[in-house]
Amino acid sequence: MTNELQIPEPHKQIIAAQWPEHSLNPEQKNYLEGFFAGMQAQGISFAGAATSAPAAVEESAPLIFEERVKREEHPLDSYYRLTDNAAFNKAPDKEETFRFKWNGLFYLTPVKDAFMARLRIPGGQLRTFQLREIAQVAKQLTTGYVQITTRANFQIRLIQPKDAPEVLRRIQSVGLHTRGAGADNIRNITANPTAGVDPQELIDVTPYCNDLAQFILAHREFYDLPRKFNIALDGGGLIGSVEDTNDIGVRAVRVNENDLGISPGVYFRMKLGGATGHKAFARDLGVLISPDRVVKVILAAVRVFIANGNRGDRKKSRLKHLLDTWTLDQYLAEMEKRLAASLIRAPLDVEGKSPLHESEAASMIAHSHIGAFPQKQPGYHYIGVAIPVGQISPDQLLRLADLADNYGAGEVRLTVWQNLVLPHIPDAYVETVKKALVKMGFHWKQSNLSSGVVACTGNAYCKYAATNTKAHAVEIIKKLEKRITLDQPINIHVTGCPHSCAQHYMGDIGLLGAKVNRAGESIEGYHIFVGGGFAANRSIGRQVFQGIPYDEVFDLLEKMLNAYLQYRTNGESFQQFTTRHDLNALQILFCQDV
Ligand code: SF4
Repeated sequence: MTNELQIPEPHKQIIAAQWPEHSLNPEQKNYLEGFFAGMQAQGISFAGAATSAPAAVEESAPLIFEERVKREEHPLDSYYRLTDNAAFNKAPDKEETFRFKWNGLFYLTPVKDAFMARLRIPGGQLRTFQLREIAQVAKQLTTGYVQITTRANFQIRLIQPKDAPEVLRRIQSVGLHTRGAGADNIRNITANPTAGVDPQELIDVTPYCNDLAQFILAHREFYDLPRKFNIALDGGGLIGSVEDTNDIGVRAVRVNENDLGISPGVYFRMKLGGATGHKAFARDLGVLISPDRVVKVILAAVRVFIANGNRGDRKKSRLKHLLDTWTLDQYLAEMEKRLAASLIRAPLDVEGKSPLHESEAASMIAHSHIGAFPQKQPGYHYIGVAIPVGQISPDQLLRLADLADNYGAGEVRLTVWQNLVLPHIPDAYVETVKKALVKMGFHWKQSNLSSGVVACTGNAYCKYAATNTKAHAVEIIKKLEKRITLDQPINIHVTGCPHSCAQHYMGDIGLLGAKVNRAGESIEGYHIFVGGGFAANRSIGRQVFQGIPYDEVFDLLEKMLNAYLQYRTNGESFQQFTTRHDLNALQILFCQDV
């Protein structure tokens, strides 16, 4: 089989009509292949084109592995393979491993011979009966390992192939699901974990988040994207959704009285193309979207990506890559074609500000996801609970569910910081709940060091990982808390490979796992980044050290933080301090004994 991309004959005729005498180069072929595959995936055919089912494609088309597998059999139609395998407790083959990701099941070979199940929990909002069933599933059908992810979601593992259908059935039995939680799909939709209870928010995004999740669930066209896709909604609350790290992020703003004919009120701004693993924050599209239209506009933006994203090269297939070649105006024009309507133009100035509204939330409290805060509903608090690197046991989940039932409103929210929030705690019970949390081994007090730590799965369960990220993050923070006292919060992001699930580029300190050669031996180590940030402090971290063996990382981090405390001026933050210096200066400062 040749690797050269071929375009189906009827489509060639369309191209020939558009570009007569034109000989397409491979890049153009890739683009057109992606375009037609996307159109086919939406069930759109062209004059003269084969009228096949959306997922079908001519056998002669030498698509890349992933596109071929999807088109030979839509992965949502592969459930029978899962049950067939379950009957013999059989591991999936390579193609099945890819297909089963549409059911949120990830086979972990060669690290482990079992599945991990990733759920979908829109906005990270759960009821306690759902929490209890997840805990029971983890207890009865897995090894009991549960983690909160950086998409405010749960992952459970290890699941034997024989148990996989039962795990899915039980998750669905409590109104949750795993559909589209991996591969070329829209991942869990994230939102402010305090949506609806935060006194500072401009709008409760919960209804939009739920509508969007339901719309995606109901339409098959959203289960064949060129690549993974992230969406976040932010209502302007105290705990952000880090929306600009997503492929699509919308954030609420309040438009003031103006003479531009725009009705005052709350609107969403849309940002496109965030992918921090690729060092990209989403960029503002320059429009205002009224809340009643936001779901439709988001879906139009997704559809433009489905039709035009690159399906020939997985390394260039994110929305960010499409926007490397398209202008934002071009993308907006395609969206408006699909919407058959124009969006309100509201460009930002060079400083990212608009005369129509404030650009960021009025008050920003770092690490606001930990601690007790009054709700917008008088007489109630929400309590943010620290869960170190998101690792939690089924028994702890059950005890949390009891706490939320006994003192709250039977609700728990997960955060993108791998922690959780207990909302609706009556003021009179706040101290009781705090004590109960401490008894259970959790913290509710904000810590300038540990509250801002996130870590990806690491090599205990992920085949891409170079290091044991979670264990290392916990060990490093424990040691640092004994030796360093910070008066300002920092975020430390520990990620095991360049996929950057823990977004190392946006931490004050980012650790990227790597194999390091020491005296001819390959050992675990990290590249170290500094100066990343998000929201109002958005910035991509810079690599300051390369290939530091893990057993030297703690000492180096201690020196780095001591140097910051010694040489900072005017109480600047760690991010401001590192941004003020070039990398050479930082290396010198960080390597001396302070
Ligand atoms: Fe695995 Fe890499 Fe993601 Fe960590 S960042 S969970 S190592 S894929």
